[in-house]
Formats: sequence, structure tokens, C-alpha cells
Amino acid sequence: MTRIWNFSAGPAALPEAALSKAQEELLNWHGAGASVMEMSHRGKCFTEVIREAEADLRDLLAIPENYKVLFLQGGATLQFSAIPLNLLAGRSADYMVTGAWSKKAWQEAARIGKVRLAATTEVDGRPSDGFTRFPRADEIAIDPKAAYLHLCTNETIHGVEARDESLLPEGVTLAADMSSHILSRPMEVSRYGIIYAGAQKNVGPSGLTLVIVREDLLGQAEVIPRLLDYRAQAENDSMLNTPATFAIYMAGLVFKWLKKEGGLTRMADLSHEKSARVYEAIEQSEGFYRNPVDKECRSRMNIPFRLANAELEARFVRESEAAGFMGLKGHKSVGGLRASLYNAMPLEGVAALVDFMREFAARQG
Ligand SMILES: *Cc1c(COP(=O)(O)O)cnc(C)c1O
Repeated sequence: MTRIWNFSAGPAALPEAALSKAQEELLNWHGAGASVMEMSHRGKCFTEVIREAEADLRDLLAIPENYKVLFLQGGATLQFSAIPLNLLAGRSADYMVTGAWSKKAWQEAARIGKVRLAATTEVDGRPSDGFTRFPRADEIAIDPKAAYLHLCTNETIHGVEARDESLLPEGVTLAADMSSHILSRPMEVSRYGIIYAGAQKNVGPSGLTLVIVREDLLGQAEVIPRLLDYRAQAENDSMLNTPATFAIYMAGLVFKWLKKEGGLTRMADLSHEKSARVYEAIEQSEGFYRNPVDKECRSRMNIPFRLANAELEARFVRESEAAGFMGLKGHKSVGGLRASLYNAMPLEGVAALVDFMREFAARQG
């Protein structure tokens, strides 16, 4: 069986070692005589799975003691609602709109309560224009009384990333959507009030959402659905109801793999190296491939690029699929192409992609 190079934005490639481990343990987990999928979430075996997953995640991200780790469902999208429901408490919140995802978060919060636009890099409300950079500090107008400031630190569709914490605004509680770059580098967790991520990009299978929330932010909401209440979830170890057990198990295997591979410092080095190779291929193509994002804000995880016209882009997709690549088509809202280089993508796969890009350009040019 051959596995292909999977550049999908999500659900995305998983480390082969984690998949093999799951295969090996699928029918009989650690001698329990059953699959993790078939176990009670309250039993001894699964309790061990979820505790280890949390401990490994805390280790990898150096999560401080005063933060809770929650294993929730509903995707990152449900957090667009959960965050205002938990944190607004009658106040207003600030939003930075830097791409399609943070815009969705802002629009959803506006349905729930009072929100302000603290910064936007959109141009004329057209999703295919603008969104080519992270705002500078002097462009972010923060309301000092805001309940929180929401931002997306890696815009998966537009390929814009806050590459380190020095770009973050200060003096306000930050709520960060890190769905597509969590675990790609060490993160200064204490700079954020809440971090969340759908698992299916850089963590594990879909169906699981990670939430890392500072304890003092719990319990501010008056009446909200209990399943969305961070305090209730924290008090019940994410088990108010049945959690996504198999997805948590898979994420746990990914955490173990990350630790074995050298942790997040190693992932940061690799992400730098992998993305640099693709950006270099784009730059050296003399305009054959184009990426509109400002150099210092270019995502190491998701690299959108365009060709001269839609027909050529369609040909690129077709020929790349025939050559053993998957998932290079851009998001439907913006078109074009996109290569996602999550932790599970080895350097070898990136080298193969870069070769293909050069060869395709030479053939067309
Ligand atoms: C994929 C993605 C989402 C949506 O995630 P779901 O889990 O499908 O709800 C939100 N934000 C970002 C940054 C994403 O990449």
C-alpha cells in the first residue's frame, strides 16, 4: 500500500507512526480485550488515555498550572459562540479580522452580544482581496474595558500567521483561534486568556476541539447551555457527556509522537525549513507562482498560491493528483492553490512538492 503526500488543510495528514500505533492497538488496547472506541469513557482504561493525553499536552506546550485543558466537541466553530457566551457577561468584546476565520468568529459573536472591530486587514469586503498581513500594533484600537480581544493567530485560508507572540496586542485578555498552527512551535500560553483549536489540522482527527483556558475566566456566564460552559466542563473533566473518545486517544498518540520527535522546538525548526522551501520555489518562479502575503506574515503552515489563470490552476490540481499529491486545491472562497505543511508532513514530502512545482512551471513556461 502506498500513502500519498497529503497537503490538505484539514482534516489533514496524521503522523504515520501514530496511525500505525492505533492500527496495532485497534482490536485490543493494552490487553484490555477491546478497542478504545468500545470502552466506557468513565472506565479505568479510558481515564488513563485522557489523563496521559492531558499530561503530554501540558508538557509539550508548558501549560501553566492555572490553566484548564478541555477536550470538547463542536469544532472550532462552536467556540465562536462559546467564547462570547462564556466571557462577555454583559460587556463588549473586541475582534481582529485578519482572514476568513476570524471574520466568521466576529460575525458569530455579533449575533450573541456587543462586539467592536479592533482591526481589520480586509479590503472592500471581498474575500479574495486584502487579508495579506497581520495588523501592526498601532493599527489595533483596543477598548480597555473589552471582556476580551479575539484573534486568529494563523489564518488557514489566507495564509497569514502571527509568527510569534511579540506581534500580539497587550493589556487585554486574548482569545485565540490557533486551529491551524497549535503545536507547530512553542507558544507562550500565559499571554492568552483562552486558546482553542479544532483537532483536525495539526492535532488529530476531527470531532475533538482543544480548549486551554485560564481559571479566572471560568464561571462568568449567567445562563448558558451547560455543555458550552467552561466551568462546568472543567469541573467534570470534559465529561459532562460522552467526549470524542477515539479522537482523544488519537490526539494522545500524536502528543507522544511529538515528544519523541523532539517536541515543539523541533517542530518549529522543521516548519521553518519546510515553509521556506515552498516560498523559495514561489519566489524563484519569476511570477509563475504568486503568494500575496507580506513576507513577515507568511504562514509556515498554510501556503496559498496562484497561477496566471483558473485553467492553469485546474491543470496543476489534476497533474499533482496524478503525480501522487493530494489536497493542493485552495479553499473554495478564494480559489487558487494551497499547500498545508502541518507537523505530520515530512521534509521529504515538501521536497517532492517543490520538485513538482518547478517541473510543472518549466513545462508550462
Ligand atoms: C478549520 C478552522 C476552523 C473551523 O474548524 P471546525 O473544527 O471545522 O469548526 C476555525 N478556525 C480556523 C483557524 C480553522 O483553520
